[in-house]
Amino acid sequence: MDRSANQMDALYREVIMDHHRSPRNKGIALPTDARIESFNPLCGDRIELTVTIDKEKSLVKNCCYQGEGCSICMSSASMMTEEMIGKGIKEAQEYIGNFRMLMRGEKCPLLIEGDLESIIGVRNFPVRIKCALLPWTAMAEALTQIEGKQ
Ligand code: ZN
Repeated sequence: MDRSANQMDALYREVIMDHHRSPRNKGIALPTDARIESFNPLCGDRIELTVTIDKEKSLVKNCCYQGEGCSICMSSASMMTEEMIGKGIKEAQEYIGNFRMLMRGEKCPLLIEGDLESIIGVRNFPVRIKCALLPWTAMAEALTQIEGKQ
């Protein structure tokens, strides 16, 4: 582990490692309505995100990820999928927008609670922000792709 990761609050680190060890929603969402591959060259994180949409209700029925990368990227992906499943498409897009603002240290109305707080803690380590945001950016792209098909 590098220095910035060692400096992270112990509790945050524990939550991140838990998602890293026991990933939620890992695999491929079938049937696949959108598929995005994302790469973070700064760290080598690579993620494939797949999304299934409930077209009648216009919501995220399922989303899964697979790939390889650092613990921050992988646990962020795990938490992101948990957060996104069941959300309306617009609601999901709004959430991602707010989440990005929070990661950049900007004020936003979104209140983050639970496991995701640990990912927000990463914003104190600028070199890792790209790792944390990669899955969220991929999800935003997937939702844009889905909107284009509608
Ligand atoms: Zn990374």
